[in-house]
Amino acid sequence: MPAPPTDSFHRKIDYLRLSITDRCNLRCSYCMPASGVPKFDHSEILSYEEIVRLAGIAISMGISKVRITGGEPLVRKDALSLCESISKVQGLRSLSLTTNGVLLSEFAEGLLAAGIRRINVSLDTLKPERFAAITRQDLFSRVWAGIMAAHRAGFSPVKLNAVIMCGVNDDEIEDLARLTFRFPFDVRFIEFMPFRQLDHEALFIPASEILERLSRVGPLEPSGAGESNGPALHYRFKGAPGKIGIISPVSDHFCPSCNRLRVTADGKLRTCLFSSDEIDLRGLLRQGASNEEIAAEMLVAINKKPEKHQLSNPVFRKCISRPMFSIGG
Ligand code: SAM
Ligand code: SF4
Repeated sequence: MPAPPTDSFHRKIDYLRLSITDRCNLRCSYCMPASGVPKFDHSEILSYEEIVRLAGIAISMGISKVRITGGEPLVRKDALSLCESISKVQGLRSLSLTTNGVLLSEFAEGLLAAGIRRINVSLDTLKPERFAAITRQDLFSRVWAGIMAAHRAGFSPVKLNAVIMCGVNDDEIEDLARLTFRFPFDVRFIEFMPFRQLDHEALFIPASEILERLSRVGPLEPSGAGESNGPALHYRFKGAPGKIGIISPVSDHFCPSCNRLRVTADGKLRTCLFSSDEIDLRGLLRQGASNEEIAAEMLVAINKKPEKHQLSNPVFRKCISRPMFSIGG
């Protein structure tokens, strides 16, 4: 396989996040308005053939890690067959999936059989009523059963992602962390990012404070990243089978090591979560562009990947164009 492409800041770009739908069976308050949102028309969404072709082009360029996301990826019909097709692309080293877990009991074993090797489940609380308040759906027990099904199916580790918000779930940082004593899970705490839905200033808790709360549970020791693709800092409590991760997109720029590209469900290539620059891959696919032409456009975009985001600039924050469910996180 070719070496991964590098951008103009010498970053190796080897990781693609593919959003396969903008639809979701939850309505997390930090991600979507309660009323839901206008959905893309079916014809606007990339077909499975188009997604597999794009994944193949990216992999032939040296991108070796792909994550399937959404919206909620498991609500798209036949998501397993898509995973299976992508997993068979020559040169792919790692295929992973991010899910809210609602349908995971049903799909855990099938996902493993379809070639998904790593799974991240979003879980912001261990309290069923609070889960219902955050996600506007009373489905905590289904998500927990899904996490257990993934664990039983053999995903190792199961990663749990918790977005921490002041006055919403920050009182559960310790309890979420204690899960690592009971299960070999990676529990990852994510800083709340400003995506217009909620008052960011009121809710934001920096990673430094999350770490300080974690240290009340017990001494944390640095731990290896394993096969992680991402920007998390890794820790472990002594004697715990699971790990702790801290992801601080807002307070700490991990931009210098960013290795990611994103493709939205409607086929737009984004080289930065917080930049509104997009390349219309769907247009190229549907106008009959060759694989080489599409790869060339992707390289142009990679070369223009911004050096870093501007989240500390309040004007920039107001201009964030797409909500998270539409980009894929
Ligand atoms: N529906 C799937 C899920 O929830 O895991 C996949 C898509 S979701 C957009 C991907 C991730 O983005 C989730 O872990 C979610 O918690 C996170 N997310 C959404 N809005 C966020 C925000 N404002 N700040 C931080 N993380 C956010
Ligand atoms: Fe759906 Fe995931 Fe957004 Fe929650 S965070 S509304 S589960 S896409």
